[in-house]
Amino acid sequence: MKKPDINKIINERSIELILGALMIIVVTFMAGNTEAISTKIRQEEAAVQTSADDNELVVTIDAGHGGIDPGKVGVNDSLEKDINLAIAQKVKVILEKNNIKVYLTREEDKGLYNDSDKNKKVSDLGKRCSLIDGWGSDIAVSIHQNSYSDASVSGGQVFYYAASEEGEKLAQDIQLELSQICKKIRPVKGNKEYYLLLNVKCPIVIVECGFLSNHEEAALLITDEYQQRIAEAVSAGIVAYLDKKQ
Ligand SMILES: [Zn+2]
Repeated sequence: MKKPDINKIINERSIELILGALMIIVVTFMAGNTEAISTKIRQEEAAVQTSADDNELVVTIDAGHGGIDPGKVGVNDSLEKDINLAIAQKVKVILEKNNIKVYLTREEDKGLYNDSDKNKKVSDLGKRCSLIDGWGSDIAVSIHQNSYSDASVSGGQVFYYAASEEGEKLAQDIQLELSQICKKIRPVKGNKEYYLLLNVKCPIVIVECGFLSNHEEAALLITDEYQQRIAEAVSAGIVAYLDKKQ
């Protein structure tokens, strides 16, 4: 019988020990790596969750004028900026009940200009546009009141950017709802000049709720009840438009 080669046995043992140690290192590394992978998955799940929130519909309501700019002054001395803000705030409450994320360009009687700005009107409108774009708005609705030299003229009207098909659809949906509230409603109208209509990325409309130069309409527009009815009509139009988009 051949005598066992001691050196060979020792070498084989060493190789086994080294392989064993290597296995332990590999398993430990993989376990660590698995943890890293599962952490990554959790992070990705969180990211998906965040982007689900990002998919929430965003509507910006812009209350026209504010601060030193009163807008139109009513025959009853009402100020357009106050009526715009009251209606905008009511629209926000209604839309939020419909699970829509709503931003207001202003929440108080304040223009969106800086006191140091030379042309406050331009800087005010520019700021409104950058807010609407910055919030990633799906649509924006700017609330205004009208006025005319002939006091007999009355009625609501919705304006959209003339080159925007979506803007026109949104205008029509709001106009249809307003026609249930306003005694008189004018056809939707495309416009190529209004700063706000030209300078935001999303579909945007300007809602002229009524004429402050008309005694009957001006009297209605200062009441909480009529403002609420207008806000409900504007909100219903917005929801109708968004429903068709989804
Ligand atoms: Zn206005």
